[in-house]
Amino acid sequence: KDSKTRPEEVVKKYLEELKTPPVDEDCIICMEKLGAPSGYGDVNESKTIQPGSVGRLAKCAHTFHLLCVLAMYTSGNKDGSLQCPSCKAIYGEKTGTQPNGKMDVHKLSESLPGHENCGSIQITYNINRGIQGPEHPSPGLPYTARGFPRYCYLPDSEKGRKVLELLKVAWRRRLIFTVGTSSTTGENNTVVWNEIHHKTEMASNVSGHGYPDPNYLDNVLAELAAQGVTEDCLSP
Ligand code: NAD
Ligand code: ZN
Ligand code: ZN
Repeated sequence: KDSKTRPEEVVKKYLEELKTPPVDEDCIICMEKLGAPSGYGDVNESKTIQPGSVGRLAKCAHTFHLLCVLAMYTSGNKDGSLQCPSCKAIYGEKTGTQPNGKMDVHKLSESLPGHENCGSIQITYNINRGIQGPEHPSPGLPYTARGFPRYCYLPDSEKGRKVLELLKVAWRRRLIFTVGTSSTTGENNTVVWNEIHHKTEMASNVSGHGYPDPNYLDNVLAELAAQGVTEDCLSP
């Protein structure tokens, strides 16, 4: 499985080492010139990557010191994926740190403002408090889980159903919630929404997290794509 792959192998899988690096360009991870050694050379002792080695990401072609990418990777959740720090392009399958829980789906006959006559989909997320794992901000300490079950709504339209399928992928990849500090309550070590917005208000939009919102489905599709969750992830 990818998550067992050694960090240096992940770096070498997605970056091609350059024989003649663009020496005058900056590495945006360490801010040194690519002609100078990696600023993370002392932090990372690597047997197989030299401090001067520079690599280029395959799809987006952004270039960095290989040791800088290694430092970035090992400071994350080490899931076998890399995200370009310049353009956010994702290599491999990005996963998050969402704690264990349950995602349920129900159809409702009631329609949402702005999506009349199609009924709606109610998603129920349930997560209980627990103990933080090594992927969380304070491993070994408890985390709280406030306001669960959380109920969210989508129109039962073709586009709404597509968003639902992509949210199921995001849930499996642990991308919907994370453990951190709630910007609403200020509480830390608690389960919070990650970067994929949900509509928790059904028949009004008092909170800004409700309907109508004509841009919501497009916005959430863009947020899913930014996490690497696109239509390509759905089996035909
Ligand atoms: P947060 O406040 O750190 O915000 C993270 C993201 O979630 C932000 O993008 C924010 O815009 C969005 N968000 C904030 N409030 C939201 C809402 N009501 N519906 C949908 N998205 C929302 O993250 P958080 O602490 O997970 O968000 C607050 C949410 O948690 C709210 O849904 C609130 O009802 C719920 N909550 C309930 C209790 C409770 O005791 N009932 C306690 C804490 C939080
Ligand atoms: Zn660097
Ligand atoms: Zn890039």
